[in-house]
Amino acid sequence: MTIAENILVIKSRLPGHVKLVAVSKTKPAEALMQAYYAGQRDFGENKAQDMAAKYSLLPADVKWHFIGHLQTNKVKMIAPMVTLIHSVDSLKLLVTIDEEAKAIHKVISCLLEFHVAEEASKFGLSEEGAVDMLSSGVFNQLKNVRIRGVMGMATLTEEAEVVRVEFRRLKAIFDRLKAQFFASDDEFREISMGMSSDYQVAVEEGSTMVRIGSSIFGERNYSAD
Ligand SMILES: *Cc1c(COP(=O)(O)O)cnc(C)c1O
Repeated sequence: MTIAENILVIKSRLPGHVKLVAVSKTKPAEALMQAYYAGQRDFGENKAQDMAAKYSLLPADVKWHFIGHLQTNKVKMIAPMVTLIHSVDSLKLLVTIDEEAKAIHKVISCLLEFHVAEEASKFGLSEEGAVDMLSSGVFNQLKNVRIRGVMGMATLTEEAEVVRVEFRRLKAIFDRLKAQFFASDDEFREISMGMSSDYQVAVEEGSTMVRIGSSIFGERNYSAD
């Protein structure tokens, strides 16, 4: 199937309130343009340099989502172009995003990334770590970042029930943070969960944003990554 057909099939399976972020990491600009002509506007990249390169090649109405581990020294590069940073996992990173956003008179939307999978290698905050951060005086001084919700990745497994429990845990964290810190903030409403292999379970468990790469663009060639 073509990239355009893949997008149509996935969209037909998503409820209207769930946003599709096309994860285009490692793929050339021509592949993104095929998705663009099929109506796709939200793209996810996981490396600052790649986002910057593709930003200069794609039309200006593309919305760029940063979904990978973000180093503080790369924030400046993506700050002018990024629509949503999905992967905030420390107060230090958030402070840097705030500084770089302030320097360009922008407010940058962010999601807090949580570690809900079994794999030790995955990044992300713990629930208590996030509560400490959101309670801190430093956090409450930040004016140029806006926390829009949470993000997480489930364990890579064929066992749908393992995945479901992890997504349920992320939804529970979202609900707690919403009640404790964002009850009157309508903009805190996003739950970014679900990838090619597990997005249907994620949607059942409350996802508002799915990040899908290989089911749109085909398998990635990691030797060339
Ligand atoms: C690569 C990646 C995805 C997409 O994965 P697929 O299995 O190709 O759909 C989603 N989220 C993050 C954070 C990723 O790094």
